[in-house]
Amino acid sequence: MFFKIITIIRKKLGRQHILVLLPTCLLINFSMKVSKNTVVTLTYTLRKDNAEGDVIQKVDESKPFIHLFGTGTLLPAFESSLNGLESGENFAFNLTAEEAYGNSNEEAIIELEKEIFEVGGLIDKEMIAVGKIITMQDQDGNPLDGMVVAVKDNGIIMDFNHPLAGKNLHFSGTVLDIRDPSENERSHKHVHGNGGYQH
Ligand SMILES: [Zn+2]
Repeated sequence: MFFKIITIIRKKLGRQHILVLLPTCLLINFSMKVSKNTVVTLTYTLRKDNAEGDVIQKVDESKPFIHLFGTGTLLPAFESSLNGLESGENFAFNLTAEEAYGNSNEEAIIELEKEIFEVGGLIDKEMIAVGKIITMQDQDGNPLDGMVVAVKDNGIIMDFNHPLAGKNLHFSGTVLDIRDPSENERSHKHVHGNGGYQH
């Protein structure tokens, strides 16, 4: 594709103009692909199981997902499925639960004493209800989201598995933009500005 265009320019404009036009072609058009150390902007719809599955999350053009690829913070199978795409290309792929957030771990489902959830000796029945997500802390003070699975007489059963654990996922969307990271972004290993870190 790229070489074809050079040939056309050469025929039409003669050699002198090639030096001017070549960098423009390289910057705007065909060379950037999603790969390690590119800043990628994309939209996506995440569904359960397949293209017809229930929508879990939708990220559209009004607030697209922007990310520095290859920094190890995304699911490896998610990154490799997008690898090599160009700006404007659509994608659709499945991730098995193993490739995504892993299988549900029985040990992450635990019963906690009811007192832990009491405020002034009372339980907030609206907040501590089946299906509610509660942010708690582990022994090191890290925030940990858990879902209320059951409310018993003396205890609350909480599931600390990732909400998407055990689920096969389907992603579809469009690559909106691909660019090189700035020096700062490269060293910080994340994106700055709109949709990224503001500092
Ligand atoms: Zn930064």
